[in-house]
Amino acid sequence: MTELDKRQDRSPVPQGWTYAPAPESTDVVRLQDRYGLYIGGEWLAAKEHFTTISPRDEAPLAEVAQASEADVHKAVAVARDAFQSWSKLPGSERAKYMFRIARILAERSREFAVLESLNGGKPIKESRDVDLPLAAAHFFYYAGWADKLEYAFPNRTPKALGVAGQIIPWNFPLLMLSWKIAPALAAGNTVVLKPAETTPLTALLFCDVLRQAELPPGVVNIVTGDGSTGAALVDADVDKIAFTGSTEVGKAIQRRLAGTGKKLTLELGGKAANIVFDDCAIDQAVEGIVNGIYFNQGHVCCAGSRLLVQESIYEPVVEKLKQRMATLRVGDPLDKNTDVGAINSREQLERIEELVAAGKEEGAEIYQPPCKLPEKGYWFAPTVFTNVAQSYRIAQEEIFGPVLSVLTFRTPDEAVEKANNTPYGLSAGVWTEKGSRILWMAQHLRAGVVWANTFNRFDPTSPFGGYKESGFGREGGLHGMEPYLDFE
Ligand code: NAP
Ligand code: MG
Repeated sequence: MTELDKRQDRSPVPQGWTYAPAPESTDVVRLQDRYGLYIGGEWLAAKEHFTTISPRDEAPLAEVAQASEADVHKAVAVARDAFQSWSKLPGSERAKYMFRIARILAERSREFAVLESLNGGKPIKESRDVDLPLAAAHFFYYAGWADKLEYAFPNRTPKALGVAGQIIPWNFPLLMLSWKIAPALAAGNTVVLKPAETTPLTALLFCDVLRQAELPPGVVNIVTGDGSTGAALVDADVDKIAFTGSTEVGKAIQRRLAGTGKKLTLELGGKAANIVFDDCAIDQAVEGIVNGIYFNQGHVCCAGSRLLVQESIYEPVVEKLKQRMATLRVGDPLDKNTDVGAINSREQLERIEELVAAGKEEGAEIYQPPCKLPEKGYWFAPTVFTNVAQSYRIAQEEIFGPVLSVLTFRTPDEAVEKANNTPYGLSAGVWTEKGSRILWMAQHLRAGVVWANTFNRFDPTSPFGGYKESGFGREGGLHGMEPYLDFE
């Protein structure tokens, strides 16, 4: 026996790895009991309020204002006033405020990350490592364009639009706010933003960042409320609506705005194909599949919710996937080891349950790894369906939960046909060693974003948006600035 063998003999490798709880402290977050509406740089009282809770244990967090139609009109009028001076500021001055906002977000990122996980249910490691860095990065990036508009759009004389009404969803509350507010301000517009009903708290904390950055009053206004507040904003005297959310509401907004001359961008749902060819690096692909569908509990419009596997490697891929799923830790979003957090709301949980029941009924085979779900709060175990036909609801409808449907294909043509066989067209993933195949696939997939040998990658410089029922207009990059400008 060598020296090394002897040593290994004495200290056996542990058989099971368990994680001790690693809860992030919530002390860093100071919540008010009740929030008003942030209009004209002040907190205005509202007539009605609703309670916002934490989906991890259903505990109430704060009372939040329900903005009425009159409140929304007031916010828009204040934003229109503020537009007079804000749009006349030199771009370099607007940029200074935006750089400040970016730096403050970075400085206060722990506080924001904890609050995001508390109110929305996403794992703290995601809000800490993805949402917050990206939110700050969007302000940094667009601040850089504010004084360079005529170089960004040469020979086109860009001009600010006026007041932008922005309506955002609950899956990336602060990140969606940043995606929308940063390009609008860089272009010289003022903003009225409505956060989602279930996740208003980071948008309300963001008002404190605006105060700290000394942004002129009225340039950004935050009105909380439900769908009726959103509808009031669509009908108010705004120059543009930017909406992210469901296709159903997106369509309703498009109908309302037809003929009004207001500009519109829609970022709606998706049913992305994650396409795995038999020459790929299988272990990396499995990581990409897991990231594609279980990241943020699958509450991701560009989630890789349809896995298309080349038939020749179907068995090893599905087997490795199931093994990997068994290692996912589901539970308290504020635990630093958690991979899959809480479902955002009871309503969303019921929608997931309904679609999963439909999948079973239609004949698909379900697998869920053994995992103990907390008793309180909203939870759903990571799920994969095999034996799925293209016609099944779970292969057609957006589930917006941690539920993957697996289909197979034989040739690249068949993969493209199946991938495009959906009303949506937001994103897709391709896993192959062959560069030429990646380019060919990217040309043929009807998807706004195609990731190659990776998934769910974001960068402020890169445009994001959809085809077909996934909406129109782009966010991110210079493309994301264009919808906030008029050109002579
Ligand atoms: P949603 O109703 O479309 O919500 C998006 C935003 O629009 C929220 O702020 C919402 O307020 C507001 N809203 C609702 N009705 C409105 C109206 N008539 N006019 C203007 N604004 C309105 O989506 P959801 O109810 O949160 O989720 C339903 C489904 O949408 C999900 O299951 C998922 O499939 C999809 N979804 C997609 C995305 C995405 O990123 N593309 C994000 C979220 C959800 P409330 O918060 O009060 O509803
Ligand atoms: Mg809704």
